[in-house]
Amino acid sequence: MIELSLRYTGDIPQKEPFVCVVTEAGSEPHTRGANKFIKNDGKYYIGGQILSIINQNGILEIGEILIVFPNEKLIQRFYRPKVNGNTILLTEKCDQVCMMCSQPPKNKDYLHWDLYLEAASLIPDGGTLGISGGEPTLYKNQLLQFLIDCIELNKNLQINVLTNAQHFDENDIDKLLILNKNVLCCTSFANVRVLRMQVLHIRTKLLVLLAGAEFGQPVP
Ligand code: SF4
Repeated sequence: MIELSLRYTGDIPQKEPFVCVVTEAGSEPHTRGANKFIKNDGKYYIGGQILSIINQNGILEIGEILIVFPNEKLIQRFYRPKVNGNTILLTEKCDQVCMMCSQPPKNKDYLHWDLYLEAASLIPDGGTLGISGGEPTLYKNQLLQFLIDCIELNKNLQINVLTNAQHFDENDIDKLLILNKNVLCCTSFANVRVLRMQVLHIRTKLLVLLAGAEFGQPVP
C-alpha cells in the first residue's frame, strides 16, 4: 500500500506548515516559485537541511507536491504526478450513516484551505484532483469558494468532489455555474432513507443541468 503520510527525522528552520515540490538537485526553479524539496542520491534536503524519511517505502517521485507539517515532522503527499487518484480528505465527519460506507464517519477535519489552494495551484496543466470525506459539503461555503479559487489559479485543473450532494440548493447556482467546466460532483449514496435522498439528488443534478444549459456548455 502506498503511504501518503510520511514521518521524517531532521530539523527544518521553518515551523509553520508549507507546500513544496520534489525536485532534482540542480533543477531550475519551479515556474510558480514553489519551495524545493530536493532529492539527491536517495537523500532529501530542504533549506540546506538533510531529512530522513522513516517510512520504509517512503520514496518520493520527482514532481510530487507535498505539504510539510514541521511541528509534527509529517509530510503529506498531496499530488503524485503518475497517479490519477490524488485526493484531499477534507473531513471524516458526515451527517449520514450509510450501511455501505467504506469509511464510517469520525469527528475529524483536515481543513487546511490555504495550503490546499497553494498546492492545487502547482498541479501541472491538465491534472486532476479529488475531494472526499466524510462529507465535504458540511463545509459547503468554504468548499465552493476554495473550488472557485482553485480554478482561478489553475484554469485547466479538473476537480472531482465525492459528495452525498444533499446540501446544495438554489442559492448555490451562481457558484455552480462558475465551476461547471472544471468540477464534477459525484454522488454515491444508498442508505435506508434512499427515497428522500434520491429526490434531493435529482434536484441537485437538475441545478447543475440548468447551469450547463444556460451557458451552452457540456454538462458532466
Ligand atoms: S454519505 Fe458517504 S461518507 Fe457519509 S456515511 Fe454515507 S457513504 Fe459514508
